[in-house]
Order: sequence, then C-alpha cells, then structure tokens
Amino acid sequence: MKNAVDDQLKKVTQKIASSEAVVVLTGAGISAESGIPTFRGEDGLWKKHRAEDLATPEAFQRNPQLVWEWYQWRRGIIAAKKANPAHEALTLLESSIRQFLLITQNVDGLHGRAGSRKMIEMHGNIWKMWCTVCGEKMENHALDLPPLPQCVKCEGLLRPDIVWFGEAIQSGHLEQSIQACQNSDTMLVIGTSGVVQPAASFASIAKESGAYVVEINPKPYLLDIADVTLSGKAAELLPKII
Ligand code: NAD
Repeated sequence: MKNAVDDQLKKVTQKIASSEAVVVLTGAGISAESGIPTFRGEDGLWKKHRAEDLATPEAFQRNPQLVWEWYQWRRGIIAAKKANPAHEALTLLESSIRQFLLITQNVDGLHGRAGSRKMIEMHGNIWKMWCTVCGEKMENHALDLPPLPQCVKCEGLLRPDIVWFGEAIQSGHLEQSIQACQNSDTMLVIGTSGVVQPAASFASIAKESGAYVVEINPKPYLLDIADVTLSGKAAELLPKII
C-alpha cells in the first residue's frame, strides 16, 4: 500500500517537473492543518448558524452586526494561525514553473503570508473591506473593530471584501482563471469540496483542454476526472511532491 502511494507521488513529481504551465486550485482544506475550520467540516458551525446563511448579501442586509461579529470571530482565529507546509510548498512550486497561477477560494490570506504572489484570491480576503456607500477599499488587520465598522472617508457602513454566495466573481479574475486552466498542462486541485461554482468547474475545463489533473483531499470528489487521486492531507503530501 505504502509503495503504491509512493509510486503515485513520484509520478506526480515527475509530471510537474516536466510541466511548463501549472495551475493550482485550493480550498478551505489546505488551511485545515493551520487550524482554520472548513465550512463543511464538523467544526463549520458558529453559534448555530451555518456559514452559507451568513456569507450572503441578504444576511448582511438583514443583520450587518451579526455578519460582522462572525467575521471578527474568524479574523481572530486566522490571526493566530500560521501558513503550513502545504502553503509553503506552493510558493516553491511558483518559483520553479515558468507559467504558474494559484487560484484560491480561501479568504484567510495564508497563501500570501507564505509568500505566494502569482495568485488570484477568487473569493476575496478577510483582511480587506469596502464601503457600501462610496466604494472606498481598504485593508485593516485590527482585531478590535467596532460592531459596525465605518468608512474613514464618508462614515458609510463597511463590508468585508468577500465574494458572498450569490455574488459575482470579479470578471477579470474569472477570465484569467479559466484561461490558466485551459493553458495548463498540469492542474492540482487541493482541499476543496467542489460545491462552490464557478471554481467547481475548473478541473473539468483543464481536463478538457488536455491537462493532467491531480487531486489532493482526504475526501476526494474528482474521481471521474483526476488522473491521480491522492487521498490524504495537503500539508503531508504536497511537501513530498514539490
Ligand atoms: P469546504 O469547506 O466546502 O471543503 C473543504 C474540503 O477540504 C473538503 O473536501 C475536505 O475533505 C477537504 N480537506 C479537509 N482537510 C483537508 C486537508 N488536511 N488537506 C486537504 N484537504 C482537506 O471548502 P471549499 O471547497 O473551499 O468551499 C467553501 C467556501 O468556503 C469557499 O468559498 C471558501 O472561500 C470558504 N472558506 C474559506 C476558508 C479559508 O479561507 N480558510 C475557510 C472556510 C471556508
């Protein structure tokens, strides 16, 4: 069994080494070993609210204070955590592949903290916010924000710079991601449940364009598509590959 896994790891390493264009899609699972709860894991509930019921424009309209309270709680958790060996392995990969793009659905900013630069944060970043009145954007790492943070320019209500369920991905981001999937010869899909669109379709797009698809997840979902499925934890497997 161990030999079979080693063979698979070796195959993936060789494939990556001969690749000219690599695209990587990550989800909450890559940050799980940093201690950040995923949405659909057992620890995904907060005060009996499901994440899917809080991360929506309607929830913010209904009760901005509740939504902000949830984000403050998440900011507190994330601030105390560090990038893990999986985040770090991807920075190494970025530096060794000519054409590279990391597409993350995560909002925790840990890829950036690890040193990733060729990256799209598709769903935004929990340390950024924008004004619902004047549109001013800002970055703020404070952990003691007021219950309803206000814009420094116009005092309008700020909201997290997160793409909530039901909201559109920034158009440039979507086009760039799709293009990278179409042009890649290898795609790594790491720690995502494949439920949230459009990211859930990226692996099919890459596969249809001829890419070699590798999934890393203790509960893989791409079994029909992936050329290699590594059922395990990203922080253990990625450093072995890269
Ligand atoms: P998800 O919670 O739906 O799924 C997490 C996936 O990670 C699951 O398939 C699980 O099996 C896998 N996983 C768990 N531990 C793992 C590990 N150690 N190594 C590899 N894989 C592991 O997350 P999602 O697919 O990213 O989609 C949900 C949405 O949740 C996204 O939009 C994302 O923005 C948001 N989210 C982000 C964070 C974060 O920024 N860290 C945390 C929670 C949710």
